[in-house]
Amino acid sequence: MSTPLRFSTLAVHAGRRPTPEDPDLSPPLRRATTFLQHPEVHSLTDAGDWATPLVYSRYGSPNVSDAEEVLAALEGAERGVLFASGMAAIHAMLLHAFPSGAGKVALARQIYGGTSSLLAKALASLGFEVIPFDVRDEGDLAAALGAGAGLVHVEGLSNPSVVVADLPRLAEQAHGAGALFSVDSTFATPVVQRPLELGADLVVHSATKALAGHSDVTAGVVLGRAARMEAVAGYRKLTGAILDPAAAWLLRRSMATLGLRVEAQCKAAMALAGALAAREEVARVHYPGLPQDPGHELSGRVLKGGLHGSMLAFELKGGDEEARPFVSRLRLAVDAPSLGGVETLVSIPHLMSHTGLSAEQRLAVGFGPGCVRVACGIEDPEDLIADFAGALGAG
Ligand code: PLP
Repeated sequence: MSTPLRFSTLAVHAGRRPTPEDPDLSPPLRRATTFLQHPEVHSLTDAGDWATPLVYSRYGSPNVSDAEEVLAALEGAERGVLFASGMAAIHAMLLHAFPSGAGKVALARQIYGGTSSLLAKALASLGFEVIPFDVRDEGDLAAALGAGAGLVHVEGLSNPSVVVADLPRLAEQAHGAGALFSVDSTFATPVVQRPLELGADLVVHSATKALAGHSDVTAGVVLGRAARMEAVAGYRKLTGAILDPAAAWLLRRSMATLGLRVEAQCKAAMALAGALAAREEVARVHYPGLPQDPGHELSGRVLKGGLHGSMLAFELKGGDEEARPFVSRLRLAVDAPSLGGVETLVSIPHLMSHTGLSAEQRLAVGFGPGCVRVACGIEDPEDLIADFAGALGAG
């Protein structure tokens, strides 16, 4: 076929294809940890190629490669490298960005708490330094780059208040200063945004979320140019944080329905955000699909397909005191961390993903008192709206 395949076709057909020798339509789960070494393999490994042949499961395995191929096709990357969690992927990506060992990271203030903690707690002792900047503020990033940042790391849609990052502008600033630009695209998924097409050098996902999509797999992936990914895979081989074959098998199976699931989630988020914005108990809704959202205009330029993501957050007029009672009154949405699954989840960021932040720091990340984060699932939007209305009305 000469025309490039479109997203939903790639999601089904990218990677392994059945053959007369290997006819299963659903790929077999191959659990082997070690593989026969024969002269053909010897000639490759003797020449230093440990990536192509099957050697040992920590270096690579068939189900992991299958899933990596699909992820790379959907993200428009030359290669993806799978890890045992999103944090393991972010860890490898950060270390890889500084081949000399450590350096200064310009880190968006609007970021998952785990990423800032990783840098502050685990990587600081290796010599990593964080220069925080507001992702919306060009001058703030210019100052961080002026202070010597070698990597700029942001989330395209941020956790928890869905701030939209202007990726082309950020890429231009980073590259202008000779820095690398990496994007955590967990909230967006390649259905809503493809950061590599907008100037990113590296993309990372918690595949635990929408990519796997059923709240039953923990995984992470780094994607980018082949040469860079070879180095990341080399690091994974050394440190051993590769994904298990069974988890990779589930992930690859889930990828076939990624577009269907994420589109349904985005539709639910749009409907729920609109309904919440009309409620008198709600002080503010964060969702770039709403015309009044500060990221709305920008989202038209950096997000795809008229979609605005599956995540939203809102602030209750009753403040922090009202957040837990409200969540406990929901009957469908489940109070649980994580996102991107088929079921709608809620969480209270200052008690979960962003613990330990002062009121001021929370405002800098982008959310105020009484904030509830909602990760929309694929339920009927009308049922979700009724669930939230019931819980608000009973307060
Ligand atoms: N990035 C974002 C935006 C997240 O929300 C999370 C987890 O919630 C992670 C990375 C870490 O992923 P994992 O839990 O798979 O290690």
